[in-house]
Amino acid sequence: MSYSYDILLCDLDAFFASVEQRDNPKLKGKPIIIGGDPDYRGVVSTCSYEARQYGIRAALPTKKALQLCPKALLLPARMPRYKKVSLQVMDILERFTPDIERVSIDEAYLAVKRGTGLETARRIRFAVKKELNLPLSIGVSVNKLLSKIACSLAKPDNIKALWPHAVEKSLWPLSIGVLPGVGPVTEKKLNKFGIKTVADLAFFPGDALKNIVGNYAADLKEYSWGYDNRKLELKHKQKSISEEITFPRDIYDQEIIMDILFDLAAELGYRLRSKGLRARTIALKLKFPDLTIKTKTTSFPEAIDDDEKIYDTATTLFNHCCSKPPWRLIGISTSGLQKWEQLALFSAESQKKDKIKPVLDLLRQKYGKNAIFKGRRLLLLLKKDALMISSKQNK
Ligand SMILES: [Mg+2]
Repeated sequence: MSYSYDILLCDLDAFFASVEQRDNPKLKGKPIIIGGDPDYRGVVSTCSYEARQYGIRAALPTKKALQLCPKALLLPARMPRYKKVSLQVMDILERFTPDIERVSIDEAYLAVKRGTGLETARRIRFAVKKELNLPLSIGVSVNKLLSKIACSLAKPDNIKALWPHAVEKSLWPLSIGVLPGVGPVTEKKLNKFGIKTVADLAFFPGDALKNIVGNYAADLKEYSWGYDNRKLELKHKQKSISEEITFPRDIYDQEIIMDILFDLAAELGYRLRSKGLRARTIALKLKFPDLTIKTKTTSFPEAIDDDEKIYDTATTLFNHCCSKPPWRLIGISTSGLQKWEQLALFSAESQKKDKIKPVLDLLRQKYGKNAIFKGRRLLLLLKKDALMISSKQNK
């Protein structure tokens, strides 16, 4: 069988617990549980590796978990925080390939060029460590089944490949519970017929297997030999990235509009760069108190990701709109998105800027949006506060 892609499964280790331990270093090295209230039949959603040593697992009642490890620290889940960090991780993954299936908040399959899987896995893990300081395990193979199993063998915080030639040595000795669709009930049922390991399954007569698990027998047989035809369910490629602001009161002052455009452009530039994208088209959107909308669009021969260029373009579009105050909403959107690796070489000037941008972006990633900005944003932050302006982004 020939394969066109290497398939990676990236899975963050004890994700919620790892975020808590990263955000609060005092929790490092301690058994912590993210879960519901033990008095209200809460269950464990995630626990740190330190807590796992006490036999605590996801879905265990919190009450039971605290009996197993009375000194464990129980924390409530902070879903908005985890979602945000998850997006940051997915943004990093998108730099390496557009072919991604996001399985859950902390797990995604990636398809990359055949033969580049292990190297890509190393680069991804390096980036997630350096930029987000989170533990990540990656399984590398040629299909979903094997990369998922490789990932479970890699855990915690490591990379493992499981290639088809190693099925006999590495997959067959494992318990059948590692196969997709084999939950505790099916496992028990198969155990009764002496099928305990994947090897047992591989050599069990097909007809007899069908009598036990019905139509699922054919899939199980395939899996036991390391075959898996399931395709990645790719999300649609992101077509545009936009930022807009609706004002709580209509705005009459053009200077404020310019300041806001400056802020929106910085936000867009950052989001493009963090995804490894550049845009060929910029559009400006204006909404008026009577709810009519005006948009103006322009395109460049060369794609951009630079805050200043986005800002200059947006202000030019604004001036061409001949629009009169008051304004109710203003937004910028970027489309015609391209991966920057695919682009031609840049001019000398943009190369010079490119040395500073990654540093600024990294600082921002680490310390947040308001940690570092060009002088002009300070004024805007004060004005925004006074105007109680809130913004919205597409995602
Ligand atoms: Mg995980």
